[in-house]
Amino acid sequence: MGIRDLPDGVDANVVFEELESFRTNDVRWRDGRVFTLAYSAGPDVLAVAEEAYRRYSGENGLNTAAFPSLRHMQNEVVDTVAGWLHGDDHTAGFMTSGGTESLVLVVRAAVKRAQREGRLTGTPNMVLPTSAHAALEKGADYFSVEARRVPVRGDWRADTDAMRAAVDDNTILIVGSAPQYPQGVVDDIAAIASIATDHNINCHVDACMGGVTLPYLEKLGLPFAPWDFRVEGVTSISVDLHKYGYASKGSGVLLHRNKTLRNDQVFMTDNWLGGMYGSSGILGTKSGGSIASSWAVLRYLGNDGYTRVARTARDIATTIATHIQGHPLLALRAYPDTTLLAFGAKDEKRHDVFALADALIARGWYMDRQGPPATVHLTVHAGHADTYRQFLLDLDECASVMDGTTGSAGTYATVD
Ligand SMILES: *Cc1c(COP(=O)(O)O)cnc(C)c1O
Repeated sequence: MGIRDLPDGVDANVVFEELESFRTNDVRWRDGRVFTLAYSAGPDVLAVAEEAYRRYSGENGLNTAAFPSLRHMQNEVVDTVAGWLHGDDHTAGFMTSGGTESLVLVVRAAVKRAQREGRLTGTPNMVLPTSAHAALEKGADYFSVEARRVPVRGDWRADTDAMRAAVDDNTILIVGSAPQYPQGVVDDIAAIASIATDHNINCHVDACMGGVTLPYLEKLGLPFAPWDFRVEGVTSISVDLHKYGYASKGSGVLLHRNKTLRNDQVFMTDNWLGGMYGSSGILGTKSGGSIASSWAVLRYLGNDGYTRVARTARDIATTIATHIQGHPLLALRAYPDTTLLAFGAKDEKRHDVFALADALIARGWYMDRQGPPATVHLTVHAGHADTYRQFLLDLDECASVMDGTTGSAGTYATVD
C-alpha cells in the first residue's frame, strides 16, 4: 500500500485565501475583544512584530555562532530585560520560547544545582503557592520533583509562613509570582526569598505577566515592594515578551542572578557522532523570528512607548476593576496590582458567573473562566483602549442572565 498522498500544489493566493478562511470562528483578538491568550498594542506595533518575525523566521537560534545577528539581538533583548529587573554585571540569561519553557527550565536548573551541591537525600521537592502557574507543575512532572502546593491567604497572596513550614532538607526551589495569574496580585517576594536565603536554595520569581509592566508602573509612581533582583535571595526571574512585551509568540526571557546559576539551565553533550552539541533551553532548532520580533518591538516602542502602553493597560484595568467593585451582582476577587483581574458572582449560591461569561462570549468577547471558585478572568492590555467601554456596557446588560442560568466552565488550555 502506498502513502496517503497530498493533493497537487495550488497557487499561493489560493493558499492564503484558505488560511484566512480558517479564521472565521477564531476569537477576535486583533479587534480588542479578547481578554486572554493574545496581546496587542495597536496595529502599528503588530505590524513591526510580524514583519520582523517574517524576516528572520528561517534563521536558526540553535547556533548563534552561525547567526551573529541573532546573538546580537538576543544579547540586547536579555540586557534590556535585565535592566528593567535591576540586574547587575553578573545577571545572565537567555531568551526562551515563553513562560512554560522558562518555568520548566527553572525546575530543571534547581535539580541540577541540588545535584551539583550534593545535598539531596530523597525525592526533591519545590514549595509554591496554589496560585503559581501550571507550567511549574509541568516542570515538576518532567523532572520528577514533588510540587508542594501551599494554599494562598484570604487576599490570594502566598502564605509565606505556611511556605516556610513546608520547606525541608529536600526542598530545591521556592516560587513567588509578580503577579500571579489567577487573581492578579503580587506575592510578598522579600518574604519568599528570605526563606530561600535561609535554606540556601533557588528562589524563582515568575514575572511572566508583570516583568514588563511592573517596572513601568513603578516609574509612573505606583508603589510596589521590591520584587526583582533588588531582593536578596531571588535567584531567577522569568519575563514573557509575547505578553506585555507585545512581541510575536514564542518569546520569553529567563534571567539568573549569576552565570553559575545560569549554567544549571544549559545542556551540553558530545556523546553522539555529531560533535559537541550545546543548547540553552528545551528546543533545538528555534526560529530566529521570535528573537527578531522581540528585538524589533523593544526598539520600536522604546521607553516612551512602553510607558504609554503600560499606563493605558493599567488605566483600563483599574476602570474595569472599579466598575466591578460597584456592581450589584459581581464581586472583584482582588484589586489588581497590575493589569490582570478576576471576578465572580456576589451571591455564588444563586448566581453562576460562567453564565455571564457565556453571554459575553455570545456577543463576541472572549475571556478565561477559572476556579475554584467559579471566576471570570481578564487580562487587560493596551489593545482594549477602544473597546473596554463597550465591554462594560455589555457586561451590565448581560449580568442578569445569571438569574436562573448556569454556564460552562471552559478551559485555559487544551490538548487536542
Ligand atoms: C502565561 C504565564 C506563564 C506561562 O507562559 P506561556 O507563555 O503560556 O508558556 C507562566 N506564568 C505566568 C504568571 C503566566 O501568566
